[in-house]
Order: sequence, then C-alpha cells, then structure tokens
Amino acid sequence: MTPLLETDNVTYAYPNGPAALAGVSIRIPAGSKTALVGPNGAGKSTLLLMLNGMLRPASGEVRLNGRPLAYDNRSLRDLRRQVGFVFQNPDVQIIAPTVEADVAFGPVNLGLPPDAVRRVVRDALGYVGLRGYEKRPPHHLSGGEKKRVAIAGILAMEPAVLVFDEPTNTLDPASSEEVMELLDELASGGRTVLISTHDVELAYRWADSVILMEHGRVLARGPPEEVFSDHALLAAARLKPPALLDLYNELGLRGIIDRGVPPKSVLEFTDRIERMLHGHAPVRNGTGRIYLCNADRTCGDEVRALVESGAVDHVGAMGTRAKEFANRERILLDYTYGVIDKCILKALIGENSLIITTGGMIEHVHHRIGEYSAESGRALAATALHESRGPVRDREPVPE
Ligand code: ADP
Ligand code: MG
Repeated sequence: MTPLLETDNVTYAYPNGPAALAGVSIRIPAGSKTALVGPNGAGKSTLLLMLNGMLRPASGEVRLNGRPLAYDNRSLRDLRRQVGFVFQNPDVQIIAPTVEADVAFGPVNLGLPPDAVRRVVRDALGYVGLRGYEKRPPHHLSGGEKKRVAIAGILAMEPAVLVFDEPTNTLDPASSEEVMELLDELASGGRTVLISTHDVELAYRWADSVILMEHGRVLARGPPEEVFSDHALLAAARLKPPALLDLYNELGLRGIIDRGVPPKSVLEFTDRIERMLHGHAPVRNGTGRIYLCNADRTCGDEVRALVESGAVDHVGAMGTRAKEFANRERILLDYTYGVIDKCILKALIGENSLIITTGGMIEHVHHRIGEYSAESGRALAATALHESRGPVRDREPVPE
C-alpha cells in the first residue's frame, strides 16, 4: 500500500555545510505513530522540514499519497494544509499578539469565512485545553501553554499529518506529559503523528514505529522494542537503551525470565514477573475498583465528594480538558500520564482509583481495561460515575 508520506533517497546540505541528509528513505503509513530518534545533529529536523516543503531536497524526492511534492506557492499551501508542522521552539511559530489571533492566522489565510474561522479556533483551543485564553498575549504564557497555542494553530488547519519537532525538549516533566498525552489523543482520533526526539524512553513507550538516525542517515527502523534492543546500533547513534527494555533484556540473558515480547510499561513488566513466579495470574478477591468520570458531564462537587469520602486512593486525569476540570474543581491529581496502567496496577493491589477524562477517551479506557482483563484473566472493569449534567455541546471538540 502507498504510505501517506514518504521520502525517497533524499539528500540535503546547508550552504557551506557538510551533508545534513545523505540519502534518507522513510515511509509513514496513515494513522501511524512514528518517532524519528537520533542524537543532536543527526538530521532529524532537516528531514522533518522536507516533509512540508520548508526545505527542498538537493536530490531524491518527497511524496504525499504517492505524488511527488511540487514547490510552487499554491502546491505548498495545499501541502501545509495537509501536513502540519509544530516547531521545537513555539516562539518561532507564534506570531500574533493574542492567542485567538494566532490560532486564527492559518484559517484566515486559507480564506475561510469568519464564522468558520471562529468555529475552528474555538475547537482547536478546546482541544488543547486553552479555552478562556483567547485574549491573552502568547508571550506571557508558560512554555507548555505556548506549545499548546502552537499546536492549536496547526490543528485549526485540520491537517491529516502532524509533525512535531522535539515536542517535549524545552518543557518540564508535567508539561511534557501533557503534550505527549495530547499527541496520543490526536493519534487515537485517527491522525498520523510523527515526532522527532532524542529521548529513547519517550519513543519506546509512545511510538509504534521508530526510525533511528545518525549523521544524516537512517541506521535502523522498526518496532521500538527491536530497534532499542540492539545495543551496538544504539551506541553508534550515541544513545542508551530505555531502562525498562534494558532490564528486561538483561534478565532474559541471565535466564531469569523467559524472553517474549518485551514489556512496554511497568504494569506489563510486573505482571510478567508475577505470572512467572506463580505459574499463572493469581486469582485475587480483593481487587480495587476503577471509577471513571466524564468531566464534561459530571459536577465537580460529586467528584470531590467521592475523593473526600475516602472511596478512592488515587486520582488520574487523561486529556487536557480533564486536567483543566480537575484544576478548576481543585481536585488533586496523582497521575497525569499513563493513567490507565497506573490505575490497573493499583487495582491489582486492592486500591481504588478514579480516572477523569472526556469524550472519546471514555471508550478508550473501557477498551483498554477490557483488553487487560481478557489478556490477564483478571476481571477488572471501570465503574462509570453518575452523569449529572447533559452533554455540554460547547465543550465537545471536533477533532476530525
Ligand atoms: P537534529 O535535528 O537531528 O539535531 P539537524 O537536522 O538540525 O539535526 O542538523 C543536521 C546537520 O545540519 C547538523 O550537522 C547541523 O549542524 C546542520 N544544520 C542544521 N541547521 C543548519 C543551518 N540552518 N545552517 C547550517 N547547518 C545546519
Ligand atoms: Mg533538531
């Protein structure tokens, strides 16, 4: 099948520079989550800039839906509508004096009528959790907020492919987690997402496919557990293996555990070890409960009452709107990333947790817990909290 986006033997050198790309061929299938991984100077940014025509290959070609890119203004405009690019540094991307004007910039330039512009801006700001920020000057926002403004500006163009150059590089851990979760949300909504990073931990847990780059070349490509298990290859790229995978492989080499598909998370790893020690998944009577709440349809009072009653030991929120809700309702969050797995882990040791989320992520939570139950043979289910409010239409994002 023709990949959505591909490069074919692309080369490039900056003026007076050595080769930044020395013949790079990559394929990005529709709906994939791909991480371009490599050390500084590997050529990641240069390659990404080729994908929406900001740089033009010296030789080779870039194809979208099987068609080579054209570089006249009109074609480039069409291309950028389909392939959105989020720069590493949001200050480069944010140009207007207010958040609203900045996000509207793209749609206005596309010639959308004012009503449509208002709609896409509102949806995009809702999606990244920045409703209420419309009139704020972007240069006064935090790094994480600026990043989300930049992402909203791209989402407002409704591109099929989203390209993020080092999405978490300049952010603190909590903001990084929020951005990665936003990327997960976009991918689960059917978008094709491509990131560059030198963070192997992040690439290991997030990507379904990685492309390892160094010195303007692709060293390897494939599932992260395969690429990152090759220490010689990683050393050649001046990178270290992800800690979880490294530990798993070392235990396997010493014959302590049987090797199979490497675990992607602490949950998978501990399950594997437990099964090995007990010969099967132990049957427990005392599994904890996982409550699930739709932040768009539940009142803060009810959630706070649940938390204050002591019925839940841990609270996690998935998605920016859920986190906003928790913030607004003064609900303290224990988990802001990897929430489902963490709550499953707690349920397995008999502790109760609450997951706050919104929209399509509700189904995702049920699905993931159901999948876990089927695989592990442990009956876990999420208990939905009573929905006291009707759907708040104004708050529903329109991602597609
Ligand atoms: P990465 O994003 O993986 O860190 P880059 O694509 O930024 O790598 O850089 C690849 C190579 O191109 C490096 O050797 C870098 O020094 C060089 N390079 C990048 N940008 C420029 C530029 N604007 N001018 C000259 N050389 C550059
Ligand atoms: Mg770079």
